Amino acid sequence: MNVLVVNCGSSSLKFQLINSDTEEVSAKGLCERIGIDGRLVYQPAGGEKEITEAPMPTHTEAISLVLKALVNEKTGVLKSLDEVDAIGHRVLHGGSKITESRIIDDEVIAVIDECCDLGPLHNPANLMGIRACMELMPGKPNVAVFDTSFHQSMPPKAYRYAIPTEYYEKYAVRKYGFHGTSHKFVSGEAIRFLGLDKDNSKVIVAHLGNGASISAVLNGKCADTSMGLTPLEGLIMGTRSGDLDPAVLEYICNKEGLNVSQMLTILNKKSGVMALSNNLSSDFRDLEEAMDNGNEAARLAIEAFSYRVAKYIGSYVAAMNGVDAIVFTGGIGENAGVVRKTVLSYLGYLGITMDEAANKKRGENFILSTPDSKVKVAVMPTNEELAICRDTVELVNAAK
Ligand code: ADP
Repeated sequence: MNVLVVNCGSSSLKFQLINSDTEEVSAKGLCERIGIDGRLVYQPAGGEKEITEAPMPTHTEAISLVLKALVNEKTGVLKSLDEVDAIGHRVLHGGSKITESRIIDDEVIAVIDECCDLGPLHNPANLMGIRACMELMPGKPNVAVFDTSFHQSMPPKAYRYAIPTEYYEKYAVRKYGFHGTSHKFVSGEAIRFLGLDKDNSKVIVAHLGNGASISAVLNGKCADTSMGLTPLEGLIMGTRSGDLDPAVLEYICNKEGLNVSQMLTILNKKSGVMALSNNLSSDFRDLEEAMDNGNEAARLAIEAFSYRVAKYIGSYVAAMNGVDAIVFTGGIGENAGVVRKTVLSYLGYLGITMDEAANKKRGENFILSTPDSKVKVAVMPTNEELAICRDTVELVNAAK
């Protein structure tokens, strides 16, 4: 099956065409600056990147250009669009109603629409992408894979905030969690890779990218996760603060004459390791280099980031009353040896020992712990697009 995987942001659209039989990517790329001017980057497997500047007033024009590139005589990878069998969409928020991936019908569209309030930047863009694909490829099945659905197995003690119940009942204010597709994929792959028994397993997944979150996966199901109502809660991230005393908002607002939404923009876009490094960078490659050159702010950023990850791991060991495996994934988790080493330096009490030589590896599934370590630690690349492709194929086949 050829599955087109689509991930729409407010002004961007990433895509991959995946052959589900081989699980190989036939072509991939992205549209940028949708609604501003428009730029398509397209790359067929084994070929060069092509860049096309073209107007993209909406996601419909963007998808239309992607489809044209896929069937282009010279560098296209399909003869006609009939060869696209299904489309898998990454959707941010499915609220409490959606607990798994779904074939898109009117009911699913209505839920995505209802959840625009909870995901104001992403859900409207996701809907635009879905509607554009329905319009341009009528009759093809579309599947929605939600960032929140894997976390719907959390119990109320994990997802309820200790605030008046009326806010939960009236406005559905609770922890939802994000990166669910990655947490599900990586925990599943880890169970296989490490030979664990899914129905009797305790796995902690640290998805450390520009956005970062961590989850406790008990017997293959999410028991807790660090992101909340929005992706702002939890770990320190590239530019997001993660957890902080909510009273900080009012205090700074009063001192600086800011309103709450201005303050939230600061907490989302101007905080995190970017802020701790005195605006040096949100990228760990830059931070590591600066730290090695003696920059103390960069050192603090890396140390604070790693310390927060270690504290969450400790709390999830308590939540599951044990842990069999800890898995690092995401751009930082897969590449930043210094972060992994610092995190693990706090976890000796669990009987974890790290293989220093393995910590230099990157870009593949590997075990980071020594053979005698009491808990297995692994590094495993995430692949959200492949996870979306697999769910799409499963649902489309089941509906046949
Ligand atoms: P997202 O999908 O959230 O945008 P990624 O998972 O792609 O983020 O992670 C991107 C981050 O990974 C970069 O900002 C950078 O901090 C980190 N990163 C990528 N490559 C390396 C590397 N070689 N060494 C250290 N950090 C890296």
